[in-house]
Amino acid sequence: MIDLHMHTARCGHATGSLIDYVEAGRAAGLEVVCFTDHLPMPEGYPQHYTMRHEEISAYLEDVTAAAAFSRKTGGPEVLSGVEADWMPARVPFTREVLERLDVDMVLGSVHFLEDWAFDDPDLIARYDSVVIDDMWESYFREVACAARSGLFDVIAHADLVKKFGFLSVADPSPWYELVAEALAEGGCAIEVNTGGLRKPAREIYPSLPLLAACQRRGVPATMGSDAHDPLEVGAGLAQARELLVEAGYRSLVLFRSRRAEEVPL
Ligand SMILES: [Zn+2]
Ligand SMILES: [Zn+2]
Repeated sequence: MIDLHMHTARCGHATGSLIDYVEAGRAAGLEVVCFTDHLPMPEGYPQHYTMRHEEISAYLEDVTAAAAFSRKTGGPEVLSGVEADWMPARVPFTREVLERLDVDMVLGSVHFLEDWAFDDPDLIARYDSVVIDDMWESYFREVACAARSGLFDVIAHADLVKKFGFLSVADPSPWYELVAEALAEGGCAIEVNTGGLRKPAREIYPSLPLLAACQRRGVPATMGSDAHDPLEVGAGLAQARELLVEAGYRSLVLFRSRRAEEVPL
């Protein structure tokens, strides 16, 4: 089993040392893990969800040290990655930052609609003033743009918009097709993320119909716990595997030096 989505305390909303995550990965019997902490955003964007710009190299050194520790202690293989925000107005900036980064994998995430971090529990009141169907449509359009941008290897939690359980009334299938097509054409993988099981949605991201749409179009898949605590490493991955099988997947991919490699499911 692989867990390709884990955070570190540097982002300010996760806890535990990298060694704790690696040890939790070993205890869970994982073969490969990937640290993917939140990459900082440029000025004018919130700075409190991510590590700071000046911390990036120290973060990568921490990952290298954790990988060495894991090798010595019989733990999982440790890969390096980041979770980068999709900022439609800052594509050249993001491209430049990512080109300079020496990591195995880049996750791309839509956490913002305009300036609203819609998955932040502190900003949940804003759901009262939006039309959920419109919000869902805007969200999936942004996910599709992110998938086509060429910036990311994987799109993380591709239906995060359901996080708090505000579900669209309209049938979301056309949006799922839009996203699956964009992933296929953009050469981007889809992540099966168990973080949603621990949120009010109580569901893996993405839902089965979205995952199945991706499978039909030949979009490769990864999986991850989105652990923000060592206790969450590997959480729900057996369920993720069941969902993948149900969607028709027979294998996964992981990334080394940003190149996809097929691995058994
Ligand atoms: Zn986070
Ligand atoms: Zn994450």
